[in-house]
Amino acid sequence: MLDGTILASATAAGTSARGVLRLSGPDSIAAVGNLAPQAGLLESCEGFEGVGLDLQVDELLLRCWVIVYRAPRSYTCEDMVEIHLPASLPLMGLVARRLALEEGVRWAGPGEFTLRAFRNGRIDLAQAEAVAQVISATGEAELRAAQRGLAGELGAKAGAVSGLLTRSLALLESCIDFSDEDLPELAAGEISAGLEEAAAALESLGESTTLRMAGGDGFRCVLSGLPNAGKSSLLNALLGNREALVSELAGTTRDPVRGVTSEAGLAMMWIDLAGACPAEAAAAGLDEKMSSETRAAVERLTSFELEHADAVLWLVDAASDPVMSLEACGALDSRVKLLVFNKADLLDEGAQAVLRRQYPAALFVSALRGTGIASLREAVRFQALNNSSPAVKDGAPPEFLVSAHQESSLQGASSALERALEALTAGLGLELAAADLRDALRCLEDLTGKVTPDDVLAHVFSSFCIGK
Ligand code: GDP
Repeated sequence: MLDGTILASATAAGTSARGVLRLSGPDSIAAVGNLAPQAGLLESCEGFEGVGLDLQVDELLLRCWVIVYRAPRSYTCEDMVEIHLPASLPLMGLVARRLALEEGVRWAGPGEFTLRAFRNGRIDLAQAEAVAQVISATGEAELRAAQRGLAGELGAKAGAVSGLLTRSLALLESCIDFSDEDLPELAAGEISAGLEEAAAALESLGESTTLRMAGGDGFRCVLSGLPNAGKSSLLNALLGNREALVSELAGTTRDPVRGVTSEAGLAMMWIDLAGACPAEAAAAGLDEKMSSETRAAVERLTSFELEHADAVLWLVDAASDPVMSLEACGALDSRVKLLVFNKADLLDEGAQAVLRRQYPAALFVSALRGTGIASLREAVRFQALNNSSPAVKDGAPPEFLVSAHQESSLQGASSALERALEALTAGLGLELAAADLRDALRCLEDLTGKVTPDDVLAHVFSSFCIGK
């Protein structure tokens, strides 16, 4: 890693107007120039410049917009080129494959652009992790928190704590010469004041962060119920699009369909289960066409999703006899279960009033008409606030998002500092306290990447997408 010129698509695969191929490294400009009849246009670019350029790829002559970033004025601090093309996957693939044949050019590894930016001093490790968090943010609150990380605020706060610890450590070390005597009183006061200030700063930094797992998608809310209860329709209503297939035929959905929304800043993943509970569906003779292999696969997926759900919305077709559905719901083992009567539009007021009296905690919605959906979102958000991690529970948006690696660095620093303070208070020896302080400093440096060992770096960057 880190040598040569790397190449990747910087845009996600999918439908869009423009796609961007990105190169970084000493041969970037020459490699693109080799495909351009007017290569001189690229060579003459200075600093940061964009040019309209024709690229000859096999028999195709493509008009592109190319941006040249001369080292060190680029994201990676190396020579970089971005080629902006129509976002046709075959077209981008053709150009990328042609470029990958150029001497010195190879495909980038995950996060390799950001790793180069980090290695070349453009950003610290906390900022590098924030790049991944900005990309995967699922709501505005998360985006703001990730951007604060990207702006270097997390690194700066950790740096300020390191400053306090370093000063205290220096004082402590200078006192080690007095080891036969007690710590001189003046120095003792200064050291403990510095350490207590550092401990308070670390505590408030810990409180202002929320763990964001790579690929984590928020509170997992599974939509379940007998076939035809309206799960796919409800998913569509919640996502505001037509992600899930809706059909009058029972058991149409086979694979879980999911989508993420932001409910007033909380990320919520909604999952429509495959064909509800296959056992009940089969018992009701609703799904005879499903082969035994498919049924087994659907059952496995269904159990997995139910086991990992933070909440289950059990949908009942309000217009049908609810007995069988309610029995199936009763048999379901889930931490949080919400009973939802769908198709409320098919009930007259009297029938609805009877059901409401019978099931006072139930929600009444019409996925088709969109009624009751706002109250349902609110009810699930309430569950998320009361059943999630402490940071989410507060409802306050986090100031910073941290990865598991960053969280363990912060916790490691706190415990090492606590040990140092205990060692000093209990008179266990200055050397011991100094060793603990060095540990705390190492943990903080680990957070900003000053002394991060290669395997930690490899782990951090492996969670990135290729084009970053
Ligand atoms: P699933 O099998 O639970 O995913 O159910 P679907 O979402 O595929 O819906 C089954 C049928 O019920 C379809 O014909 C839907 O149009 C219909 N449906 C779903 N929700 C409602 C609703 O709120 N009101 C009415 N009247 N029909 C609905």
